[in-house]
Amino acid sequence: MSFISERVSRIKPSSTIAMNQKAIELKEAGHDIISLSAGEPDFDTPESIKEAAMAAIRSGQTKYTAVDGTTELKQAIIKKFKKENDLVYQLDQITVGSGGKQVIYNAMFATLNENDEVIIPTPYWVSYPDIVMLAGGTPIFIPCSRENNFKLSPADLDQAITPRTKWIIFNSPSNPTGTTYSKDEIKALADILLEPKNQHVWILTDDIYEHLTYDNFAFYTMAQVEPKLFNRCLTVNGVSKAYCMTGWRIGYAGGPIHLIKTMAKIQSQSTSNPSSISQAAAVAALNGPQHFIAEHNKIFCERRNLLVDALSDIKGLSCNKALGAFYLYVNCEKMMNKTDSKGQVIKSDDDFVIFLLDQAKIAVVAGSGFGLSPYFRISYALSTERLKDAIIRLRTACLSLV
Ligand code: PLP
Repeated sequence: MSFISERVSRIKPSSTIAMNQKAIELKEAGHDIISLSAGEPDFDTPESIKEAAMAAIRSGQTKYTAVDGTTELKQAIIKKFKKENDLVYQLDQITVGSGGKQVIYNAMFATLNENDEVIIPTPYWVSYPDIVMLAGGTPIFIPCSRENNFKLSPADLDQAITPRTKWIIFNSPSNPTGTTYSKDEIKALADILLEPKNQHVWILTDDIYEHLTYDNFAFYTMAQVEPKLFNRCLTVNGVSKAYCMTGWRIGYAGGPIHLIKTMAKIQSQSTSNPSSISQAAAVAALNGPQHFIAEHNKIFCERRNLLVDALSDIKGLSCNKALGAFYLYVNCEKMMNKTDSKGQVIKSDDDFVIFLLDQAKIAVVAGSGFGLSPYFRISYALSTERLKDAIIRLRTACLSLV
């Protein structure tokens, strides 16, 4: 009999975190690795937010708080939802966790019974399937092709729904593709979810990259586009990406009271409240100055353009020009069956990213971890100078393959 539970044996460690870890180890061993695998902005947390955290420490906000968030933070979140998304929530419809990841985890544990199905458009953020499986559910993957800009089509959604479907997880802008859904595209999906036979399906919208969009893209979330779905939506967001606060671990969601209450119950028996200091910092983030978001986006957009142009010049690689997040999802099909200078044949995107790490000393994440191969995810959340170096290395490595 195995000591490790069957449920845990079915899941794998996050491939993005694994690649980041590998890059860190090689760096520590003295290699000049350029990491393009990061899932976090390279910018520091803005000063005003850090000051708020220090003020919280000094004023003694160092004790347990209410399990799923302070009233002050919930009020800031309510204000944000109203102002930015036209969504009206009450205090008991808001939950705060240690990152968006914990919020999603709580939602799945609160609702899934064995064999309940969760629809996950693919490619997906690496953690969705594993969180679903840990909670006892079954992920149902819907492949979304590059030709359709990696977007879920209403017809495919309709076909995937069964009587056992509990949730669909919807992520725009997307990790790993940067894909963004327009208001009309969200409405078309909402129409499917409103059909009488689909009324039992809940919608988890992961809006963590809401503020990272380019080329005047207008962000909308499902409950805003279709108010009739408001009571079936859990609208998840957080401060990690927009406010450069990945290490602070604050995520939140708005949703129906009974779901929010159950999620708090789970949190009360696991981590309890998120850090009191981080919560105070998140209040400052949401209520304070927002100008740096546009400043960061201008830089992200320049880097995206640089990268898209460079990739279009590298024979054998190609990608779509995504409008959001800080990732591109690059097709490397034409690199398959090529041979490197050591005589190794590249058979998969896993082989290709290992080749890039070994030969070019650049770290990217293989598409296999996101459910669609042969691709790799490249993050442009690093300095423009390093990005330029990485492009030269990438081009040289690709040219060396025969
Ligand atoms: N959702 C997506 C799509 C993400 O990429 C991430 C982080 O990488 C998260 C949620 C979770 O972010 P956090 O737990 O830092 O709020």
